[in-house]
Amino acid sequence: MARRPLVVIGSGLAGLTCAWASDPQGCILLTAGVLTDGAASMWAQGGIAAALSPDDSTALHAEDTWRAGAFAGDRAVIDRITGVAPEVVRLLVELEVPFDRAPDGSIDLALEGGHSRSRVAHAGDHSGAAVTTAMARAVRAAPHVEVREHHTVTRLLADASGAVCGVEVRRRDGSLEVIETDRVVLATGGMGGLWAHTTNPTTALGQGVALAARVGARTDDLHLVQFHPTALDVAADPMPLLTEALRGAGAKLVSDGARFVDELQPRDVVAAAVWEQLTEGRTVRLDARGINRVATRFPAVAELTAASGLDLTRDLLPVRPALHYSMGGVTVDDTGRSSVPGLWAVGEVSRTGLHGANRLASNSLLEAVVTGRAAAADAITWTGVWRGSVRPADPATVRTRTCTAAPAASRPLPLAQVRETLDSACGVLRDGPTLQAAVDCLEPHVGDDAAYVAWLIARSALAHPLSVGAHRRTDNVLPEGVSA
Ligand SMILES: Cc1cc2nc3c(=O)[nH]c(=O)nc-3n(C[C@H](O)[C@H](O)[C@H](O)COP(=O)(O)OP(=O)(O)OC[C@H]3O[C@@H](n4cnc5c(N)ncnc54)[C@H](O)[C@@H]3O)c2cc1C
Repeated sequence: MARRPLVVIGSGLAGLTCAWASDPQGCILLTAGVLTDGAASMWAQGGIAAALSPDDSTALHAEDTWRAGAFAGDRAVIDRITGVAPEVVRLLVELEVPFDRAPDGSIDLALEGGHSRSRVAHAGDHSGAAVTTAMARAVRAAPHVEVREHHTVTRLLADASGAVCGVEVRRRDGSLEVIETDRVVLATGGMGGLWAHTTNPTTALGQGVALAARVGARTDDLHLVQFHPTALDVAADPMPLLTEALRGAGAKLVSDGARFVDELQPRDVVAAAVWEQLTEGRTVRLDARGINRVATRFPAVAELTAASGLDLTRDLLPVRPALHYSMGGVTVDDTGRSSVPGLWAVGEVSRTGLHGANRLASNSLLEAVVTGRAAAADAITWTGVWRGSVRPADPATVRTRTCTAAPAASRPLPLAQVRETLDSACGVLRDGPTLQAAVDCLEPHVGDDAAYVAWLIARSALAHPLSVGAHRRTDNVLPEGVSA
């Protein structure tokens, strides 16, 4: 009997890499818009981290990742992923990614916060578009990938044993189709669009987490989200990003004219320092005027600021923290296997253990390529016995569409309200009573995917009373039975 097709969902860097690497068996690649539409991968400015310079090593890259993640990452995963980073960059060079070069012809490496060495390979300040476009070109040329654009996955189907048996898809004309399959790779990206202040595409609503959790997949660390300290504070949704590489090149943060933080500390530290200034009523600005040839080196940023009437070479740029990246997600093992047979997750939708409680800058494009390749290799050879190492989900978090919490569940909460709720309860600083109120507000609406994922996030934040990395509890209560 012919094997049912492998289905990959999402055409950011993780999904594209997975589809490309599914050679020779191949896959169907489903994506919501046209290829790369709605992908945060296209928006990455900084680049991809890899220990490539003579004064660097993969061990140092691993150490920086571990430290930036507040020592909460999985050390074996960190060592494995940072260990292959140089090879990943070489692969991207083979795919003709036009990385910037130093005068001696080697790849030019930028310095970013939390890195003890200059190690970010970049293509100007539009690195994500350069890398993702190259991978999309390879996918378009690959005879083993059947691309289906304008195919939004609305539901995963599971059989009586709980294993994946199909996906429900909404096509461009609104019609629904079921594709039968026993193997699905989720590559649906992050969930930053669930916050009112975000740098993510507003379509990044964590739908992959909803799809997976509704069929019983385990999720972890959903409360561990990263706030980028320097989103341009103008009336735009999503907020334009002022890349960390600007600070690496010498840009300074000033509050009412004075510096207040070491700009190259990990993001959680800088974001908290900026937030403190703002809550004390001061205005925080990024001063990039001292950077040599700043507009030439950062043309994408220059364009973004100009669109808001600001000149990068002359103006101080108002900034505030904004939701940027999700460290948690669908829990997976080294091959991308989730707790549900037949379901893999790769890229930002997954929780691999690489990032701990705070992602080191420019480690996520790396993770997208590494996890995409690993899941493809596993999925094309998998023969039916699911030996994953991920523990089952907490049943209290699993809400199927037919088993909703309350009658009001069929009435979706307006997205704007979901976003305001997470913004105020799950921002840079959190406390128990506000989180409890958010959980109570969202609970009756978990039949709706956006509210469901927001509920899972708030619930996870409430369940973690201790501050760690990007999760900062102002009440910082110790768990019962633990003394200080
Ligand atoms: C402004 C910005 C700058 C960044 N800069 C950097 C950087 O310099 N370096 C770095 O390492 N990281 C950076 N990041 C983070 C990085 O871009 C992302 O973590 C990474 O690209 C995620 O890749 P992905 O493939 O998992 O998801 P994405 O690239 O977000 O792709 C998700 C895909 O899934 C599709 N999709 C979603 N739901 C469905 C559905 N239900 N059905 C069908 N398709 C669906 C989307 O349309 C999209 O194609 C940045 C992020 C942002 C927002």
